[in-house]
Amino acid sequence: MGDRFAERMADPRVAGDSRLLGDFTAIYCRGRHAGTARHPLASAGAALHVYGRRVPVVCDACAELLAYAERRRAFCPKDPKPFCSYCDTHCYRPEMREAMRDVMRYAGPRSMLHGHAIAGIRHLIDGRRAKKEAAARAAQEGERS
Ligand SMILES: [Zn+2]
Repeated sequence: MGDRFAERMADPRVAGDSRLLGDFTAIYCRGRHAGTARHPLASAGAALHVYGRRVPVVCDACAELLAYAERRRAFCPKDPKPFCSYCDTHCYRPEMREAMRDVMRYAGPRSMLHGHAIAGIRHLIDGRRAKKEAAARAAQEGERS
């Protein structure tokens, strides 16, 4: 890790994505892990000030997820990086993938209320869901006519 990680984190897209996941995970952790001790994230990315003044406050499990997500993002071999849910390279370990999916599902819609509208919208327009809704609408219209 070390130098190469710092180098990758200097890319604003890499830092921005990490910040987004940090925001999302903080929202998720606050809602889902309310009874758990939470601390400002002390990850490799946080040490590089990737999160600026908004260091996510999370529990130990969420901190581990974020530190993992930082590394995955930093070392993502795709450039430009595709939307993770569309990517054919499943670089997350299955349990981390599942955990991050939960975070997205929970925090995506809620992030709109927390002033991350653009980031929220970007992640809310999850193709699969959009497609599913469009199909449901089409079916409804079909029934009506
Ligand atoms: Zn948590």
